Amino acid sequence: MELELKEKLSKLEEIGYRRTPQREAVIKYLSYTDTHPSADEIHRELEKEFPNLSLATIYNNLHFLTNKGVIKELYCGNESSRFDFNTTDHYHIMCESCRKIEDFKYPLFYEVEAFAEEFYEYNIKFHSLELYGICKDCQTN
Ligand code: ZN
Ligand code: MN
Repeated sequence: MELELKEKLSKLEEIGYRRTPQREAVIKYLSYTDTHPSADEIHRELEKEFPNLSLATIYNNLHFLTNKGVIKELYCGNESSRFDFNTTDHYHIMCESCRKIEDFKYPLFYEVEAFAEEFYEYNIKFHSLELYGICKDCQTN
């Protein structure tokens, strides 16, 4: 993700994004984690490095980066959103016990979009797929 991080940071600079250490820490942290953390988790982690970093600043940054398409927000119903550095189309699998979210590597169902366009005459923008269950670790606990 190192190259992608550099690309994303320089893209942000082009649109006038001011690179502050705190802002950069948020995007960097996301780039090297694959746990799909929530704003709270990111805050807990970055607080160690930036004791004055507020949760509000984290939220502002996450929303900014989501709006610019640099990261992806994963909506989790009643629970807090989780964030993903990987903005390419992919699916997720979630453990209902420990709440971990993993990438679910499976061929994309583009034929479903084609079907919807043909038979429902929608102009489809995207689709998503989330699987819910109990992970292997939680099954043995
Ligand atoms: Zn689990
Ligand atoms: Mn993901």
